[in-house]
Amino acid sequence: MSKLTDAEIARMHPETLALSYGFDPWLSEGAVKPPVFLTSTFAFKHAADGKQFFAWAHGEGTPPPRREMGLIYSRINNPNLEIFEDRVAIWEGMKDACSFSSGMAAIATTLLATHHPGDEMIVCAPVYGGTDSLIHHFLKRLGIAAHFVPAGADAPAAAEPLITPRTRSIFIESPANPNNRLTDIGLMKELALRHGPAAPGQTAGRILVIVDNTMAGPVFAQPARVGADIVLYSATKFIGGHSDVVGGVALANDDALLTAIAQHRALLGGMPNPYTAWLLTRSLETLKIRAEHQQRNAGHVAAFLVSHPRVRKVLYIGLLTADDPEYAIYRKQHTGPGSLISFYIRGGEKEAFAFLDRLKVFRLAVSLGSTESLAQHPATMTHSGLTPEDKQMGGISDDLVRLSIGIENHEDLIWDLQQALENA
Ligand SMILES: *Cc1c(COP(=O)(O)O)cnc(C)c1O
Repeated sequence: MSKLTDAEIARMHPETLALSYGFDPWLSEGAVKPPVFLTSTFAFKHAADGKQFFAWAHGEGTPPPRREMGLIYSRINNPNLEIFEDRVAIWEGMKDACSFSSGMAAIATTLLATHHPGDEMIVCAPVYGGTDSLIHHFLKRLGIAAHFVPAGADAPAAAEPLITPRTRSIFIESPANPNNRLTDIGLMKELALRHGPAAPGQTAGRILVIVDNTMAGPVFAQPARVGADIVLYSATKFIGGHSDVVGGVALANDDALLTAIAQHRALLGGMPNPYTAWLLTRSLETLKIRAEHQQRNAGHVAAFLVSHPRVRKVLYIGLLTADDPEYAIYRKQHTGPGSLISFYIRGGEKEAFAFLDRLKVFRLAVSLGSTESLAQHPATMTHSGLTPEDKQMGGISDDLVRLSIGIENHEDLIWDLQQALENA
């Protein structure tokens, strides 16, 4: 497969492996880059092979490691999906990944694979608007109830009294979007273990810690290292990174969880197409240099915003000081503050809109994590579907603006913000 031995692979960094891991040029005419395997179905060498692959896919017998199972059909597996999944799993430091056609497909499929009617979730608010609707409306209709607690240093204390024998998961976005509050994943894991089954290895009644790591990872945070059981992504954001592809990922270390997620993906049909997986694989090659440059730019932008008289308050992890209880969480869970900045403008919706309408370099658009800088108004855009209580819990008021900082020259970004603020 690779000229590198397993021991050599183990000492390599993810940004190195992102260029070659999991792809053997000699299976594809020596091509240095993986071709796009635009095929819906794969030929079996012998009928007996087809029978065996299907038996494994249905969970019969002892299947080989997932990657060694023969290719069957592109809703179940495809080389482009597998290459991407292998490389994201390496980056996250997790056993394996399942790629999806969108972040929402990854989240919905994972929650359906791991929850049953009657189960309960504890959710750290705010969560992404689509996730919020999924939980409030769709999962509720299936008899899966959720308790919401505010994200932040106090979230574990708020969550503990809400745990019942029916609690199946604790769902966290850290940092939360758009208020950048940090929740201690390790403490939530301790809670989950304390209230979960006593017998080691017993999975019934286990409380899963599920983390949507779209905002910080995998470059600046790897939640499984501090206790997450499942890590989710909208790969549309930093992983894709160019605002030209929609995708998602679910990762786990536990074989039973991985199998459940993969089987539900095959049932529900939320896999990406091979070209989407190819684009995401391409994007992983530059993920680290993009994320680091975006983070450097964000530091300059945040410093500019805090000193501007039209800005009431800036929410940026890079501005946390040692006296803030979330600073300790930051040090435990993150290797950098990233490039998402929210701020409260002086005034309300009118002033926020005037500012957004005047931007010339920033694009007025939702989404985040891309090469170009983006600005939007969470209360009326990404988070408009939240209940008034959830909006209030998340600090999503009419004067809040969210910025995603791109790879432009930071002086040009600051010039743009300055001219838009002066005139807002
Ligand atoms: C965008 C986003 C999602 C949804 O992902 P899609 O790829 O748009 O389906 C989920 N969680 C977070 C944190 C996001 O930013």
